[in-house]
Amino acid sequence: MDHTKINLIVRLQHIDNMIESIMSLQKGLPEEISALDEDLAFTSRQIEARKKIADERLKLRERLNGVITDCREKIRSFKEKQTLARNNKEYDALSKQIEYEEKEIAQAEIQLQDIAHAEHHSQELQKKGRDLISENRYDEISEEMMPDDVLQQQMTDLSEQVRQKKEELDGIVIETAGEITLLREILLEQRAVVAKEAKRLLDKYDHLKSGSMQNAVVKLHRQACSGCNTRVPTNRHTMIVQGGFYVCESCGRIVVHERLFEEAATSAQQ
Ligand SMILES: [Zn+2]
Repeated sequence: MDHTKINLIVRLQHIDNMIESIMSLQKGLPEEISALDEDLAFTSRQIEARKKIADERLKLRERLNGVITDCREKIRSFKEKQTLARNNKEYDALSKQIEYEEKEIAQAEIQLQDIAHAEHHSQELQKKGRDLISENRYDEISEEMMPDDVLQQQMTDLSEQVRQKKEELDGIVIETAGEITLLREILLEQRAVVAKEAKRLLDKYDHLKSGSMQNAVVKLHRQACSGCNTRVPTNRHTMIVQGGFYVCESCGRIVVHERLFEEAATSAQQ
C-alpha cells in the first residue's frame, strides 16, 4: 500500500488544524457579538415603540387641550351675545350652541382621562416590574413591565459590551492576519499537491469537511476514532500502526496513527 498519499492528506489536515487553532483565539467573539447585536436591536425597538406611544399621547393631549380652549372661548362669546339678545328665540339659539360646545368639552375631557388612565396603567406595570427586579424574579417580567430607566440602562450596557468585544476581536484579527494569510497560502499549495497525487482522498476529505465536521483526518486514540470515539476493530490496528488508514464505520472520518501527525508537524517546520 502506498502510504505517501495518506501522508499528504494528513499534512493538509495539519495545516487546517493550525488555521483552526489560530481562529479559535477569537474565542467565539464573532458569535457573541452577533448575539449582543440582536439583543441591542430588540432593546432599541422597545425603546422606539415606547417613544412613539408617548409622542402620540402628547400630540393627542395637546390637540384635545386646544379643542377645550377653543370651546371655552366660544362659550364665553356666546354668553356675551346672550346678554345682548333681542328676543327669546335668539337667546335659545345661543343656548343650544353653548350646549353643543359643552358637549365637545365633555368628550375631550373623557379622552384626556383615557390617556391619563393608560399612562397610569403603564406606570403601574413598570412599578410591578421594578418590584420583581428587586426580588430577582426576572422570568416573570413582561416586556411592558420593564421600567424605562432600566431599559435605557440595558441599551447603554449592551452598546458598551458590543464596543468592547468588537475592539477585542479587531485586535486579534489584526494580530493574527499575517499568520493566517501565510497558512492559507501554504494550504492552497498543499491542496494542489494532494489534488495531483491523491485526488480521491482529497475528494473524500472535502466531502467530509463540507458538513459541520471540522476534522476529516483524525488520530487513533485509545484504539478508537478520536473524531467520534467509536472503537476501531483490532484487526485494523496493525495497518494503522504501519502508516495506513482506516475509514471510521461510524462517522466516516479517516483514522491514522498519531505518528503521521507528528511527521506532518515536523515537515511543516522545515
Ligand atoms: Zn469516527
